[in-house]
Amino acid sequence: MPDYKNILVAVDFSPATDVVGKKASELAQQNNARIILVHVVEYLPPIDIAYEPITSPNWVIEEEELLQRAKESLEKFAIKIDAGNAPREVVLGIPKHEIIRIAKEQEADLIVIGPHGRHGFSRLLGSTADPVLHNAPCDVLAVRITED
Ligand code: AMP
Repeated sequence: MPDYKNILVAVDFSPATDVVGKKASELAQQNNARIILVHVVEYLPPIDIAYEPITSPNWVIEEEELLQRAKESLEKFAIKIDAGNAPREVVLGIPKHEIIRIAKEQEADLIVIGPHGRHGFSRLLGSTADPVLHNAPCDVLAVRITED
């Protein structure tokens, strides 16, 4: 197995997340690698703002609150997988695009993801995992999730 040094872990807080994080943490220890934790907040402002004048910036506040909550959750997750000091990125956007963008920006040499998360079907690569696998600038590890 190549000697990975920059491991990006895509965290969606689905039930698979603990398994994905544990695997990434083990790999990081074995390779003496750096872990970068990434969570993408998928948020669309209420549809009516496309048609009506915006009278209240409430949706901006919602975005900020979501980002803040996500940051807190990611911090807890980092501590849980013994990566409390790992750099963390919480961004708004479309997960498959942001994961690839951050992987390039951070020069990741491995992306660790679940084969399916909150959007996926149990026996197929999900709507994030599949495009990440095909467009990543580096190796991608889809961690096997067993169904009990
Ligand atoms: P999916 O293909 O969307 O079912 O999810 C597959 C995997 O992609 C998940 O197990 C995560 O590792 C990653 N992923 C999905 N959505 C996100 C997200 N919003 N932020 C970070 N990673 C994600």
